[in-house]
Amino acid sequence: MAARTPIVAGNWKMNLDRAKSHSLAEAVASRRGEAAGVDLVLCPPSVYLETVASALKLVGGSSPSGVALGGQNACDKTSGAFTGEVAPPMLVDVGCRYVILGHSERRTLYGETDAIVAAKVHAALAAGLTPIVCVGELLEEREAGRTADVVSKQVRGSLAGVAAADLPKLVIAYEPVWAIGTGKVATPEQAQEVHALVRSLLAGLSDTTTAAKVRIQYGGSVKPDNAKDLAAKPDIDGALVGGASLKADDFLPIAAAFRG
Ligand code: PEP
Repeated sequence: MAARTPIVAGNWKMNLDRAKSHSLAEAVASRRGEAAGVDLVLCPPSVYLETVASALKLVGGSSPSGVALGGQNACDKTSGAFTGEVAPPMLVDVGCRYVILGHSERRTLYGETDAIVAAKVHAALAAGLTPIVCVGELLEEREAGRTADVVSKQVRGSLAGVAAADLPKLVIAYEPVWAIGTGKVATPEQAQEVHALVRSLLAGLSDTTTAAKVRIQYGGSVKPDNAKDLAAKPDIDGALVGGASLKADDFLPIAAAFRG
């Protein structure tokens, strides 16, 4: 199996203010060594990207702090009359290397379909960003035994048209919707089962060698006390963390759990 560098990203959603964004980013950067060997990404609200970039001392695309910056969403266009949108090259311009796409909140609250997510994935890749592509089933879909069908459709649809060689340039986040912000975490076994499915789908879109290079994060109520068991599973390569990313005292131990 290919060695995959674990990746833990904090999705701050629509939380914090400028001062708190700056101090949280500084706190994470100053304690980065606790999660040595794990890629760390902070995804603040877009208006605070520059604030966090300055706290992380980002210069061009490089981060002396070893903590990378990511957007929470992006447009599928590069410029023009798209009021309220943020283009992938703009994210790059303020220091982002990553962008979360197709988060369940975007899918359920803002009507993002797999086709929309796929268009955004293409635009993000074209701009040189690493998309973190989110997929995951609703509670009723899991209870109806439809998890594999739903996740398969989302993976295929959200990655439609992506060249096999480009798959390792993206990260997949498996986030069961019933586990996001609810305190209900998937068991490591439930998560591993879907991660293995996602990897086999990626192999179907490319080959097993390529699929083995793609990092697949788990997301959904990850906390310091459940991260270690999730990290022990072979196909869980990191975490996308919401609530627990808002405190360095929670985020760093989660990231540290993914150290080799
Ligand atoms: C998320 O929103 O991506 C997420 C995983 O949230 P939480 O960790 O709060 O469940």
